[in-house]
Amino acid sequence: MKTKNINLSQELKKHFGFSNFKGQQKEVIQTLLEGKDVFVLMPTGGGKSLCYQLPALISEGTAIVVSPLIALMKNQVDAVNGLSEDNGIAHVLNSSLNKAQTNQVMQDIRAGKTKLLYVAPESLIKEEYQEFLKTVKISFVAIDEAHCISEWGHDFRPEYRNIKTIVDKIADLPVIALTATATPKVQDDIQKTLGMTNAIVFKESFNRPNLFYEVRPKVNVDREIVKFVSKYKGKSGIVYCLSRRKVEEFSQLLQVNGINALPYHAGLDQKTRVANQDKFLMEEADVIVATIAFGMGIDKPDVRFVIHYDIPKSLESYYQETGRAGRDGGEGHCLAFYDPKDIEKLEKFLAQKPVSEREIGLQLLNEVTGYTETSMNRRQYLLNYFGEQFDPENGEGAKMCDNSTNPVALKDATKELIKLLQLIKELEEKFRTKDLIAVLMGVENPTTKSYKLENNKYFGAGRKESENYWKTIIRQATVQNFLQKDIETYGVLKLTEKGLATLSKKNKEAFLISEDRQYDLAQTKADSD
Ligand code: ADP
Repeated sequence: MKTKNINLSQELKKHFGFSNFKGQQKEVIQTLLEGKDVFVLMPTGGGKSLCYQLPALISEGTAIVVSPLIALMKNQVDAVNGLSEDNGIAHVLNSSLNKAQTNQVMQDIRAGKTKLLYVAPESLIKEEYQEFLKTVKISFVAIDEAHCISEWGHDFRPEYRNIKTIVDKIADLPVIALTATATPKVQDDIQKTLGMTNAIVFKESFNRPNLFYEVRPKVNVDREIVKFVSKYKGKSGIVYCLSRRKVEEFSQLLQVNGINALPYHAGLDQKTRVANQDKFLMEEADVIVATIAFGMGIDKPDVRFVIHYDIPKSLESYYQETGRAGRDGGEGHCLAFYDPKDIEKLEKFLAQKPVSEREIGLQLLNEVTGYTETSMNRRQYLLNYFGEQFDPENGEGAKMCDNSTNPVALKDATKELIKLLQLIKELEEKFRTKDLIAVLMGVENPTTKSYKLENNKYFGAGRKESENYWKTIIRQATVQNFLQKDIETYGVLKLTEKGLATLSKKNKEAFLISEDRQYDLAQTKADSD
């Protein structure tokens, strides 16, 4: 890219008023200015926008910024325009503009005034825009929220998949892709789909050391949350619920208990929604009870707790939602309530979806279950999920979770594990959890009948233990990588290398499970709802 000999620190000060770059911003910007493709993985609040805004301001031509939400685009554009006395260096090109406005934007681009052009992917598809963009000087393309490209991300947008083809039509341009979702799977998907496997990758740690992670069984959940929230009187917090109905009910329950709470969900009319959000931001309301519709683009630094009344669909969502706590670096307590039945409910929702979506959904749910039931350091579990190693003894924030402050007793279940692995091998890795448990418990069901498993030597071999105990063994064996659920066959359990090594006694590692952190709520559930 053509740029004069530039002092980046001076430009940073001049345009943004900051004295220092944050994290890897400077290296990112330098690499982009050299004309290379760049891939930035930074947690929310890491300062991603500046990684393309600053280079756009100092490069010749207009940078195209692809962004998924028109509402967010407008905020971004206002923010950038606020930086400059010129007040017209960033524009939006999308369906919200009328003909005259569109022409004005095009004129400004042609005149070289526009440094940043925000477009939605569905606008980019329009032939006339593409033709126009071919005729003007473009500096580079930034793809914000790049995880929208991947079905494995938490916010898949099919239109994102076309971006690469369209960009190639416009010109041979450097691309910077940015996201705060960084599972290895999503990362791989983004790079492949955007044809940027050679991109220089900048990945910052996703660790949020000031957040405390806790999971509780979902028993007496209303009472527990009221008690918890009451301790934070006058402080800000978010309670996430799965359904709109629950949001309404629970915000009322908090109000009845003297807590200054308001509801937020997509079913409320626009005026009420905006008003409730503003009241929360202006601290006229302490707690917002919300569906996942709440939070995109919300930047309230002093949120002291994020509670999940219902467990979310994926760990990405969990990380994003809990990430709204403690942005100022102060206390941020992330409390999730877990009942295996909620996972079953979410699995049932998935049953109505197309096969590919269902398979992905099940995998993601499996990770959520693993997280909730683990007796490992929760930060380590989360960061591992994002492809990051974490030292549970000395890492930053290592002691900030329930499993560290209140470790559960571990039980050696190696014998049971081996029995399970032998059974799976004996049955040639063809069955799912439900049917394996039926065999172990010696209970007939349609599968056991059609495969005549009643005659198998393992039929009834696990009767000494409860059905729930076997469920826990299977889940924890999956989390600890002795088993894996096959995606292709929708949950059939297969032995991993580690599982095979355990069977052949090459692996002598004990299989420890957390006996106390079981979430068998059948008996205690009655008074919880
Ligand atoms: P992200 O898009 O990664 O969530 P943002 O781009 O919204 O993060 O930046 C988060 C906050 O950090 C913003 O308030 C922004 O002004 C601030 N910020 C970004 N870069 C710097 C910097 N170099 N110095 C100080 N603050 C910064």
